[in-house]
Amino acid sequence: MPARILNGIAIRDQIYGELKQEIATLSGAGIRPGLAAVLVGEIPASQIYVRSKIAACEQLGLGSWQVTPPATVTTEKMLALIAELNAREEVDGILVQLPLPPQVDTKRVLEAVDPAKDVDGFHPVNLGRLVSGRAGLVACTPAGCMEILRRSGIAVEGAEAVVVGRSDIVGKPMALLLMHANATVTICHSKTRDLRGVVRRADIVIAAIGRAAMIEPDWVRPGATVVDVGINRIIDAAEAQRIFANFPAKLAQFREKGSVLVGDVHPGVAEVAGAVTPVPGGVGPLTIAMLMSNTVKAARLRRAQSASKNMTGVAVAKP
Ligand code: NAP
Repeated sequence: MPARILNGIAIRDQIYGELKQEIATLSGAGIRPGLAAVLVGEIPASQIYVRSKIAACEQLGLGSWQVTPPATVTTEKMLALIAELNAREEVDGILVQLPLPPQVDTKRVLEAVDPAKDVDGFHPVNLGRLVSGRAGLVACTPAGCMEILRRSGIAVEGAEAVVVGRSDIVGKPMALLLMHANATVTICHSKTRDLRGVVRRADIVIAAIGRAAMIEPDWVRPGATVVDVGINRIIDAAEAQRIFANFPAKLAQFREKGSVLVGDVHPGVAEVAGAVTPVPGGVGPLTIAMLMSNTVKAARLRRAQSASKNMTGVAVAKP
């Protein structure tokens, strides 16, 4: 039986509906959450990503700013820019679009972001909070994967979960979130022995590898849930033919456009799995939705915190 398709666009729309209500409540208190995006240079993929994040802010009525330093920017200039955004009261979230040019110290720049405005969840303080199970801002893509599982009614507690990939922005936080949700988690990477055998044990597979269609149908236990984080653009006709031999619509799309997207999971997995996320239209929309959600959360936490500090100040002040 073909797998249930876990539709990321429908889940994103559900989250946007909830966020709109929260944004309206904040607006009633005079707060308009706002996101500042720092886009260095003119990398086309980064420009597309930032454009879609700003468009999402506009759709939801959030404030948004784009700062576009040139590709020649120095680490010092970037640090000064981040300090300025940290200090701006109306900026609740700071997004530094990666990759940064090689002369810029990416780690120093990301660590300069105020953890309270770190809506990407990359700062070590937020990562530390995640490790210790405390509330904080969580990396958007893994948080989005959890929303897909939760809102699709996939049981995580007690499940065998296998995360393929151990990057700081996807694999590691993903594994931590699954562990906190009481899954039994295995993390795989390029040195894992018998990857196929490990993946085949899983009730839930998260593929975050960056290798087109690598997880083959016979790697997946029948009925398992497969979340495909990968986004790979295929431009080679022979590769398109190999991956999509049984998917004529995708081959037609390749012939028309000269390229086609595929995840890290082979499309044939949908014949074996119990549930799968499509590419595109699976995890991708959730990544942006969680960025919006983190921006609203950051506004609520930071401004509510400063409001309560002020109140404390008033309460203890002697007449
Ligand atoms: P990354 O930093 O390149 O990490 C890839 C991970 O996969 C590494 O841990 C690597 O292992 C592992 N790996 C590579 N080749 C492998 C192999 N042959 N067998 C087993 N493991 C292997 O990538 P990332 O940033 O996590 O992104 C992963 C994918 O997700 C990419 O396709 C990216 O485009 C996509 N992505 C999508 C979204 C979205 O919104 N949908 C967001 C972020 C990323 P080692 O650690 O041993 O090198």
